[in-house]
Amino acid sequence: MKDAKNTTALDVLQKDDQIVITGAGGFIAGALARYFHDQGFTRIRAIDRKPLPYWYQRVPGVECLSMDLSEKENCIRAAEGAVEVYNLAADMGGMGFIEHFRVECLRSILVNTHMLESAYRAGARRYFFSSSACAYNTTLQQDPHVRALKESDAYPAMAERGYGWEKLMSEMFCQEYTAERGLETHIARFHNVYGPLGTWDGGREKAPAAICRKVIEAKESGKHEIVIWGDGTQTRSFMYIDDCVKGTQRIAHSDIVEPLNLGSDELVTINGLVSLVEEIADIELEREYDLTKPRGVMGRNSDNTRILAELGWEPGIRLREGMEKTYRWVEQQVSRDREARAAGEARHSVYALP
Ligand code: NAD
Repeated sequence: MKDAKNTTALDVLQKDDQIVITGAGGFIAGALARYFHDQGFTRIRAIDRKPLPYWYQRVPGVECLSMDLSEKENCIRAAEGAVEVYNLAADMGGMGFIEHFRVECLRSILVNTHMLESAYRAGARRYFFSSSACAYNTTLQQDPHVRALKESDAYPAMAERGYGWEKLMSEMFCQEYTAERGLETHIARFHNVYGPLGTWDGGREKAPAAICRKVIEAKESGKHEIVIWGDGTQTRSFMYIDDCVKGTQRIAHSDIVEPLNLGSDELVTINGLVSLVEEIADIELEREYDLTKPRGVMGRNSDNTRILAELGWEPGIRLREGMEKTYRWVEQQVSRDREARAAGEARHSVYALP
């Protein structure tokens, strides 16, 4: 099923069409707002619950609103005049966060529920939802040598508690709005996204940024040790942010309304990821394994057969290249942070562009 729309992607839009992006004070939606801006779009509305000074990036010329989208009235305001809505707002983080704050994760269902209805009522042409690999059946992910997850592996359902179930239910909302009400919805199941301008400290960071930060701290402190969550044999794949943003566009402007994997299929163990970062940093650290910390499923990879077959595309940036850029960026943040503390300044929350 090839679609001419797939190759033209953004050409189906006018440059002054209203684009609405939620969660834009965060990592991926912030990058998406920048992408639309760089493509020449003039009416971009970015929304996030965080106060504006805490947004990871603010894109010039983009309307930025600080609103809690778990409230229906705010979603109605957010969706006003929308031609396309990208709903990426969610309470989320790495394993440490999603295992400890399941209620917060589940409550993100309010955001999608109200945004979807508001987009529908506003007459939006397209609605995109960022789902997650955590929606997949966890019983298929108990071995590091797993086979990659294909889209049909979400059912029979046994998603990750809290976060994964919210994603699965929200996917279903999208699909039923399409089936019953004719709103065109698209769903990507993101697999671990990483890169500059992502969360790198504070408890919500994911493995790539966390490992970069730990290696940098070990290097700077002279205490050449690193604590790894779990036994390090867990496997994962990681997608670089630029691939994620491009893939999001491809999926949003395709004719595929079922959930589609959007992730890298370059599998690596957590130990392997640490070795890669050590190589980039030119250091070797003593490893300590903390088995009391959340480690998530034992293995997870993205099967990209469908996105390749139907869109002729898949993420292309190799882990080594993406991690090199991420490491250099985290290094800058660590030193900015140190300087700010030394000067007695509050931490700068808007991240610096690399
Ligand atoms: P992020 O935490 O950087 O961004 C999410 C943003 O949503 C945050 O800035 C947060 O303040 C905002 N938000 C949360 N609740 C809100 C509310 N009620 N109203 C308004 N804003 C609210 O996360 P991210 O990595 O950019 O993730 C973006 C989306 O992609 C999320 O839906 C996430 O579940 C999904 N996803 C991300 C990954 C990944 O590896 N980063 C993997 C799978 C899925």
